[in-house]
Amino acid sequence: MKISPSIFNAFNICPRQAWLMSRQMTADQDNSYIDIGRLIDDTSFEREKKKIYLADIGAMIDMVTKKDGTYFIAEIKKSSRTLNSGIFQLKYYLFLLKKKSIEIKGIIKIPKEKKSIEVELANEDIEMIECKLKELGDIVKEEKPPPAKWLGVCPKCGHFEFCWS
Ligand code: SF4
Repeated sequence: MKISPSIFNAFNICPRQAWLMSRQMTADQDNSYIDIGRLIDDTSFEREKKKIYLADIGAMIDMVTKKDGTYFIAEIKKSSRTLNSGIFQLKYYLFLLKKKSIEIKGIIKIPKEKKSIEVELANEDIEMIECKLKELGDIVKEEKPPPAKWLGVCPKCGHFEFCWS
């Protein structure tokens, strides 16, 4: 089963959201936090932004940059609050690219905090990703989503109305 990076990222936050996304139940487009994401996406790093869609792995790369002869793919985050999920998502891009024999590094940029964090794919990351893919595969094969479980991110989630109204 091919798991898109956005579903993999959702799974690392909320398995229910990953299930909903796997059924094309998209997030509420009026959600203001999504708008903030779009705003950052549209206004940050204008000069070096080269957004690329890697169709064969289903990944939208925020930016590709080169430093000391090494290429990096970059994810741009709103804040450090979502840093861990951003690192997971980026490692998943690196994992999918490695499967296609493309060795590249990653970088997380947080414009509001003026931070750049380099990310590499280690052997233990590969094992962890393969383990998570199995778990995620089992969940999306289910006919019903996992029950809604209150998480700190729920009020900002695009599926909030679906889960809690
Ligand atoms: S509202 Fe909460 S429980 Fe529902 S999908 Fe979003 S994060 Fe998951």
